[in-house]
Amino acid sequence: MSNLTIRASAFGGFFDCAYRFEGTYLLGMKNAAGVRTLLGSATHSGTAAFDAAHLRGEDITPDDAAGVFVDALRNPEYDVDVAGDDLSLKEAERIGLTLTAKYCTEIAPQFQYTAVEMTLTPLEIDCGGGVTITLTGTMDRARAAETDAGTIIPDVKTGSKVVSNGVANIKARSAQTGTYQLMYEHTMKEPTAGAQIIALGTSSKTPVAVSPVFDARRVLVGNEQTPGLIQLAADMFRAGTFPPNPSSVLCSKRYCARWSRCIYRED
Ligand code: SF4
Repeated sequence: MSNLTIRASAFGGFFDCAYRFEGTYLLGMKNAAGVRTLLGSATHSGTAAFDAAHLRGEDITPDDAAGVFVDALRNPEYDVDVAGDDLSLKEAERIGLTLTAKYCTEIAPQFQYTAVEMTLTPLEIDCGGGVTITLTGTMDRARAAETDAGTIIPDVKTGSKVVSNGVANIKARSAQTGTYQLMYEHTMKEPTAGAQIIALGTSSKTPVAVSPVFDARRVLVGNEQTPGLIQLAADMFRAGTFPPNPSSVLCSKRYCARWSRCIYRED
């Protein structure tokens, strides 16, 4: 292990379960996605098409965005295990159409976006001992938006628990959104004012919510007394240490390609 290239969108997963991260990104383990994963990526496609068209100054309606969603749901670009999921494609389509409409009419008008699916300049992290990590890729589901306080990074999250009691859940979101904050700053050579979670709930009631702006970057860079996650990651990569986390919400057969061979899981 000397120079590792990692997609920025995968870096947050390293801090959730490093053992799963090693299996997926360093050892090449794969599993078919579930319908819930497909619902999330298809919803992203519809909402991103809506925002990107607005950015280009083109006309686009919520119905057009819904069409992009349905096309992505029905024609996935990766393997999907439909039979092994508790969510049917029909129900996923109903939920995704509702979420796409809510996003276009209720959430998107709240933001003044300046970038959607932005390509990021590679960011190299020197881990010491001749080991480097290079983060690459795009902001994936995150956007950049202008506010009176400066540029913020809103990140669209889908899932059955992303909204709790009407509030967007930001727990365990800082590693990923902080990575986007840092890489946006590296790419644009300008500071960010924080991050925000746009939560699209995929439960049957399809709740949506937007979190307050929060500083996710601080978790990555740390402070004078406490090392940030980047420093901790550098130490772990240099040592080749990838600890498991059986408490992860993604510790399941559906979301972890290492699940069947992992001795650390507890179910
Ligand atoms: S089964 Fe659980 S503990 Fe094991 S690698 Fe997967 S997420 Fe981590």
